[in-house]
Amino acid sequence: MSTNEPECVLVSACMLGVHCRYDASTNPSPELEQRLAGQRIVPVCPEQLGGLTTPRPAAHFEGGTGEDVLAGNARVVTNTGADVTDQFLRGAQETLRLARVLGARRAILKERSPSCGCCQVHRDGVLSPGSGVTAALLRREGIAIEPLDPPKQTTDQALAPISSSKL
Ligand code: SF4
Repeated sequence: MSTNEPECVLVSACMLGVHCRYDASTNPSPELEQRLAGQRIVPVCPEQLGGLTTPRPAAHFEGGTGEDVLAGNARVVTNTGADVTDQFLRGAQETLRLARVLGARRAILKERSPSCGCCQVHRDGVLSPGSGVTAALLRREGIAIEPLDPPKQTTDQALAPISSSKL
């Protein structure tokens, strides 16, 4: 790769205005524009890459966090009780595959998600220290993980049409 090429950065797609969250909403971050200036952005949604639909039931950890899931010592379950650990692992592997193919050495990920969370996730019903499955795998493989926690949007904001000026 030429040293003049912009750096490739993976970014949680929901923070770029993609309606891929579990409830089909989005969570864009005005702060991202500044952080990403001049870089090559690759939007990723590990849960969609893992084969989950949108919308989908919300999910959380049981028995550990993303690091424990990678070790086979915890699982991810939905609020309706379905075990979606395999889909979360597949999404993490597909995201890592994209990072390697594109040469990405950094990822800016949405905090608290069971896939993308960098420092905090919901474990056994409590917000706890730990990472989502994808964040844990990328970090383990040497990719720099940067957390971002954009302000929550109301449903009206989340479903508002995207103006051409924002495209
Ligand atoms: S936080 Fe990650 S997995 Fe969840 S919707 Fe956003 S990009 Fe997809």
